[in-house]
Amino acid sequence: MTQKHPSTLKKIQNYGPDVRNFSFEFEAGKRFDFEPGQFVMVEVADKEGKVKKKPYSIASPPYLKDTIELCIKKVEGGLVSNWFFTLQEGALVEFLGPKGAFQLKRPLAEHLIFVATGTGIAPLRSQFLQLLHEGHSGKISLVFGNRYEDQIPFHQDLLDLAKQYPNFEYLPILSRPKNWSGPQGYVQDLIKTHFADPSGKTVYICGLVPMVNDLKACLESLGYKKEAILFEKWT
Ligand SMILES: Cc1cc2nc3c(=O)[nH]c(=O)nc-3n(C[C@H](O)[C@H](O)[C@H](O)COP(=O)(O)OP(=O)(O)OC[C@H]3O[C@@H](n4cnc5c(N)ncnc54)[C@H](O)[C@@H]3O)c2cc1C
Repeated sequence: MTQKHPSTLKKIQNYGPDVRNFSFEFEAGKRFDFEPGQFVMVEVADKEGKVKKKPYSIASPPYLKDTIELCIKKVEGGLVSNWFFTLQEGALVEFLGPKGAFQLKRPLAEHLIFVATGTGIAPLRSQFLQLLHEGHSGKISLVFGNRYEDQIPFHQDLLDLAKQYPNFEYLPILSRPKNWSGPQGYVQDLIKTHFADPSGKTVYICGLVPMVNDLKACLESLGYKKEAILFEKWT
């Protein structure tokens, strides 16, 4: 039987009406080990009592002891994501896992490019925060696509991170901004203007299937080799 790991919900951070970051704490020394990029499974029973299981990527790095964070979008009519939005601080939640093979490819490329839309930031955040903490000195770029400027998960933290680490570049892009002087469009647009030359680069992508497929096609048309494109698609 797969082991369940109990935790307590300690903090909730809102990013607009539909996205929340949840911080869970485990009893000292009781958190499972995981690789940045992996996910946990969460079980919730529906109205008929039938248990449904869904994966959620760990958004925090392993070096943060006894903690994991999950960044979750509320999907209209969705059982498990809406269940998360009913939770209050202090709630007890059990996780199965960790699982998943979306991990950093070593040896690392000279320049790592992380590309996400929305909550797709979760596994990538775990990866680049762990690398920066370990003192990785190679160039890291994050291309982060969202719709609106007031709903970008971790936006202020990412701006601060870029100030703290000169090798970390943060490139947000919005598809439907209201009052925004930064780039407007889709993540592919920034890839074409900033990273058209594939040499020395590995790209890590996470998001919904259409975005990942479009971006892979874009990178391949620029000459990126398949081995230099790592991705996780969410259905
Ligand atoms: C490896 C992996 C990691 C994941 N990590 C995360 C994560 O970190 N954060 C996160 O928010 N999600 C993540 N997901 C998606 C998550 O597992 C669920 O699929 C999502 O929360 C919807 O589940 P639900 O039970 O709420 O909806 P369901 O009850 O399964 O679906 C309800 C309806 O919504 C539609 N739908 C399902 N998912 C989406 C979606 N994402 N967007 C729009 N419509 C949808 C369905 O087609 C259905 O019509 C991950 C998926 C995978 C495969």
